[in-house]
Amino acid sequence: MQTTASLEEITHLQDSVRRFVRQEVAPHLADWEVAQMFPRSLYTRAAELGWLGLGYPEHLGGTPASAALRNALTETLARESGSGGLMASLFSHNIGLPPVLRWGSDALQAEVIPGVLRGEKIAALAITEPGGGSDVAALRTTARLDGGDYVVDGEKVFITSGLRADWLTVAVRTDPANKGRGGISMLVVPGDSSGLSRSPLHKMGWHCSDTAHLRFDGVRVPARFLVGQEGAGFKMIMGNFNGERLAMSVMALGFAERCYTEALDWACTRKTFGSALVEHQVIRHKLMDMKMRIESTRAWVAALTARLDAGDEGAEWVAQVCLLKNHATQTMQFCADQGVQILGAMGFMRGTACERVYREVKVMMIGGGAEEIMKELASRQLGL
Ligand SMILES: Cc1cc2nc3c(=O)[nH]c(=O)nc-3n(C[C@H](O)[C@H](O)[C@H](O)COP(=O)(O)OP(=O)(O)OC[C@H]3O[C@@H](n4cnc5c(N)ncnc54)[C@H](O)[C@@H]3O)c2cc1C
Repeated sequence: MQTTASLEEITHLQDSVRRFVRQEVAPHLADWEVAQMFPRSLYTRAAELGWLGLGYPEHLGGTPASAALRNALTETLARESGSGGLMASLFSHNIGLPPVLRWGSDALQAEVIPGVLRGEKIAALAITEPGGGSDVAALRTTARLDGGDYVVDGEKVFITSGLRADWLTVAVRTDPANKGRGGISMLVVPGDSSGLSRSPLHKMGWHCSDTAHLRFDGVRVPARFLVGQEGAGFKMIMGNFNGERLAMSVMALGFAERCYTEALDWACTRKTFGSALVEHQVIRHKLMDMKMRIESTRAWVAALTARLDAGDEGAEWVAQVCLLKNHATQTMQFCADQGVQILGAMGFMRGTACERVYREVKVMMIGGGAEEIMKELASRQLGL
């Protein structure tokens, strides 16, 4: 349990995020999107600023932090950058490392985590397969013990940072006789393993994020890279999703806010029929419909974050996180749609945040657990 963040800490963090985006992201974002990649040096820069290690223990090179402070980083970076691709890859370690941190041996943690938090190595999480992502228990990639190694065969798809990850936390079936959740384990696969091939995927949005298809053909991984116990992988995966879903909700909030401010600025300066857009009641009401959804999302995020910081991660909290993810991403979708409408043709042009967020909302509604799955999981957590 972490104490909550002080206003001073949050303000300081927000100021440094604004400066970073203004000086080191905004001037280059369009080029990175065309290149479908941002420079690797951005990881070391984010590490220097203390952001990669936020929430990780000190002995591994991190800085313990409350969920409130971590969310302040996520929301501000989302709002200022307006780029889901940047955030997805820059922080892919936040989905790749937690299983290692929570369940891995001390030796495995010491081998994998510090280099990532220094920004020298990249970590990713590989669960989804060509056969499906929602039904995790049905995954087919296998890892069989042979001497002191696991031998991995199979495929993973849509993997964020998959092209250049140095460490891949991979969900594998270690018990071929158990076709359900009990046969699944988590294994860290070094990115330079022989037999691992990776190819890029081209997407609707998140253009500066690398997203890959991975093939494992007889990849040998020393058994020390197993995370925790064999057969415990499903539980690890499910626990890991909670943090990811809360973070995605906070990102969605930041992107919605960005659409709102861009639309408001535009509405204040653009003149039609002799007056600024904002002076037309219809436009003001669109802005208020955006604001209403943003504020309800913000309040819900704050409530669940406070519960997390107080140590409450029970079934009811998990259900609320699932529903929050749906609400936050619907807020983002609504605000992107209304934002583009208020900007008119300009909202259809590359370079506006509304245009980018409009393209990037569907992945937020699908990745990390799709809407339908979120409702189902929430209802089961609530005992329905
Ligand atoms: C850009 C991007 C980055 C990603 N990054 C990663 C990553 O880093 N690591 C990783 O492991 N995965 C990643 N994913 C994959 C993502 O987590 C999956 O796409 C997601 O879990 C859904 O799986 P699926 O796409 O296979 O859809 P499916 O499971 O095939 O489902 C298709 C649709 O059917 C719905 N559906 C499925 N089952 C039911 C049901 N029982 N009842 C009603 N509706 C149902 C789903 O909600 C969805 O809308 C990424 C995806 C994208 C697009």
